[in-house]
Amino acid sequence: MFRYDVQVNHQAIQGYLFRKMPKIPPRDGVGMDDVYKEIKQYIFPGLAQWQSPKHHSLLPAGGSYASILGSMLCDGLGCVGFTWADCPAITELEMLVMNWLAHLMDLPIDFHFFGKGMTGGGGMLQTTTTEALLTVMVAAKRTMLDHLKETMANVPEWELQDKFMAYCSEQAHPGLERVSEVAGVRLKRLWTDREGIMHADTLRFAIEKDKTKGYFPFLVVATVGTIACTSVDQITKIGPILDKEEPKIWLHIDAGYAGSSFICREYQPLLHGIDYADSFSMSAHKWMPVHMDCACLWVKKSLHLINTFACEDPDGPLYIARDDKNTMADYRSWSLPMTRRFRAMKLWVVFKLYGVRGLQQKIRERPDNNEINHQILKQINKSAVIKMTGARVGFKFWLRLVIAGRYTDSEDVKFSWEMIRRTTNKVIADHTERQHNEDRCGMPNYKYVMLIGQETRNDQANDPDLAHEEMSSFEVESSPSKI
Ligand SMILES: *Cc1c(COP(=O)(O)O)cnc(C)c1O
Repeated sequence: MFRYDVQVNHQAIQGYLFRKMPKIPPRDGVGMDDVYKEIKQYIFPGLAQWQSPKHHSLLPAGGSYASILGSMLCDGLGCVGFTWADCPAITELEMLVMNWLAHLMDLPIDFHFFGKGMTGGGGMLQTTTTEALLTVMVAAKRTMLDHLKETMANVPEWELQDKFMAYCSEQAHPGLERVSEVAGVRLKRLWTDREGIMHADTLRFAIEKDKTKGYFPFLVVATVGTIACTSVDQITKIGPILDKEEPKIWLHIDAGYAGSSFICREYQPLLHGIDYADSFSMSAHKWMPVHMDCACLWVKKSLHLINTFACEDPDGPLYIARDDKNTMADYRSWSLPMTRRFRAMKLWVVFKLYGVRGLQQKIRERPDNNEINHQILKQINKSAVIKMTGARVGFKFWLRLVIAGRYTDSEDVKFSWEMIRRTTNKVIADHTERQHNEDRCGMPNYKYVMLIGQETRNDQANDPDLAHEEMSSFEVESSPSKI
């Protein structure tokens, strides 16, 4: 995982690696020891530590030992998902974990496999949420085209699609412009209020105006948890507007960043209105303890995807007819790639090793500072150097430092503040270390200790400087949990 002893940001200058590495690949292979040495010498200086608790940039990068094990199994087995028959476990495990996650987030039953009939909904794993957005946009476009062709049979498709208009807010993900470009449609970004929220009235006004100009509104991407400020669009009000349109306008809810939080009940009210959505996406690899890539997309009607992406050309070079008796998902007809990795293995191992409670705890532990405040108070009072109390206001436990004593002067306040600061740092450091030990979730520590210990011995033989550096991270890694 991350190393305690290195800076969170890199100090590389552009082209640093090109200057250090040879211009052509090595003619003969070398041993792993040599590879590892180069990794430390050349690759490490160019790393930003995304797994560091001090990485507060862009977005969280999910990861855990459980997820590494899952990835290793996925790559180790090396199977490829194509049709169900080409590797049944890949298809079925993916369907299973998508149902598990849908259940955990309390998504409407229409999003679950076998929730409503056989041609109903379900979920799939993709590389990124941007890929999910592309999948949805192309499917929404195909669905609208099929509708329009019924009433405007004599207008060519290209002429219709030139008038297709998708909507999102100015705070929606920047990838949407690119997605619209690839899908060959127009995208309109709508103003939000000062809090970054897209209002239903703004959308209704835009849709009505565009319709009078001859455009075909076909898709609205509402965001629950925008990347800039986690604002939530008015989906409860937007949904009914789109439902009333004829033909209906597709509603997609993008919760890339915030989506993982919905595995906890207390965050689910933010998804109020999801019943109106045709599809829903989130990036589990951002906030759940699972590595990239693990973007999740659910749809209510998989048939819309199949109508868009199925390869239905019997004269084609690799035509494999749809098996009509197959009640399992034919994922090759759900999106752009024909084949897929065993991504579900990663998510399944994470589910198994953490359990629902462990996963929920990973979401909850960050904003909940109550436990930390209790610890700080306990340690401060145990020291018997200063004395404080705490208080509960709403759901928060606060620390109280009363500075109204008759004899208290600024020196006393400075002294107390220094004491609080030092205790806080210590409690937080202990807490972080404990979290990392818990992240091993059921996996014995010694395996990793042995792995890293071995490297240490190798390094000592080769490079005393590096060996010393590695030694300190070895100590951190192997120290037992303090609790
Ligand atoms: C991160 C994010 C995306 C893009 O996800 P990638 O997996 O990086 O493609 C889209 N929308 C929202 C709301 C996001 O947070």
